[in-house]
Amino acid sequence: QSTAELDAMVTVCRACPRLVDWRESVATTGRRASFADQPYWGRPAAGFGPAGAPVLVVGLAPAANGANRTGRMFTGDRSGDWIYAALHRGGYATQAASDHAGDGLELQGIRIVSAVRCAPPQNKPTTPEKATCAPWLHRELELAVPTLRSILALGSIGWDATLRTVREMGWAVPRPKPKFGHGAIAEIVTPDGRTVRLVGSYHVSQQNTFTGKLTEAMLDQVIATL
Ligand code: SF4
Repeated sequence: QSTAELDAMVTVCRACPRLVDWRESVATTGRRASFADQPYWGRPAAGFGPAGAPVLVVGLAPAANGANRTGRMFTGDRSGDWIYAALHRGGYATQAASDHAGDGLELQGIRIVSAVRCAPPQNKPTTPEKATCAPWLHRELELAVPTLRSILALGSIGWDATLRTVREMGWAVPRPKPKFGHGAIAEIVTPDGRTVRLVGSYHVSQQNTFTGKLTEAMLDQVIATL
């Protein structure tokens, strides 16, 4: 199975009834007024970025009116404006703006996925939903591992999902479990003995960027360590 096949398969997943209802109801009757005339994706978001990238970004989940609308990870909302501008400054994105899925933006050397692939109500997936979506991250990591150098976890949910998944895959993870924090780094070792760096960053949600908890300089700093 290739990364392209994985992307195609995840977009038709319906394993979480509550999230299927939510993503589809937002996409039909629940559109934000300012996007009312736009088509909504209303399905799980596939990974964005080239297969075989040395860096994998693991976010939380699509936003109801962001990637659930555009169909592309972190596209169409303020979080995307932040992450793609920072990736552009770091040399990973061909343009700084993230507007819609056909805007020409391409990633180089980095691929973005999320721990949960469907938009959850209040951006909060339940524990069973996180567990149900974990096999998609598992497969993503299996495909990524031959070329993987670093994983950037955006927020503690991405951090925890990554550590849980790599442990299940037989990677060596330090004990006690490394704590999430902005700029935290954990060295995790693949079964064939290669060290991959897991780097933590506060999530690019408006809750963090509006309040100044996460600044552009702080985001640039962690991206420089990847
Ligand atoms: Fe499938 Fe993941 Fe969406 Fe659940 S959250 S329906 S497992 S893609």
